[in-house]
Amino acid sequence: MGGKHQIVYLCNDALAEICSAVEQVKHRREVGGVLLGERRGTHILITAATTPGPEDESYPFRFLRKCKSHQRKAHDRWRATAHTTDWVGDWHSHPEQTPTPSLTDRRSWRRLTKSNGTEMVFAIQGVSGLYLSVGQPSGKLRALAKTAIDSHGMVFE
Ligand SMILES: [Zn+2]
Repeated sequence: MGGKHQIVYLCNDALAEICSAVEQVKHRREVGGVLLGERRGTHILITAATTPGPEDESYPFRFLRKCKSHQRKAHDRWRATAHTTDWVGDWHSHPEQTPTPSLTDRRSWRRLTKSNGTEMVFAIQGVSGLYLSVGQPSGKLRALAKTAIDSHGMVFE
């Protein structure tokens, strides 16, 4: 399979949630959460991001999403949007200017995508840049580049 050409639209609201969570810890620890949004054909629209909960584990170079709050927020959103908003990916922060995924990141993303059985978006917020990729159920990971910006968000393809 050649794989579908995925286009990801990241809404400003979702990015603002990510940035404010990162801003709170100033990269002294890694933070993260899930990405929520809608799948429309080859497009994935990210409308919201969850931020760390009390049971997550947050270290200088590692973030482990363990808190039930992410699932709860995802479910609340799913109900509030007549089941159109779903869990579409994961994000976490890295204390690097231009973030790149670690081997551990790639391994856990591959596991998540396989168990979910559909494409998922993975984002890393660095000090100045944002890394964004789409994982395929086959295990393939493709990094996307920002191709456009409008008043509501950014397009990655
Ligand atoms: Zn990482």
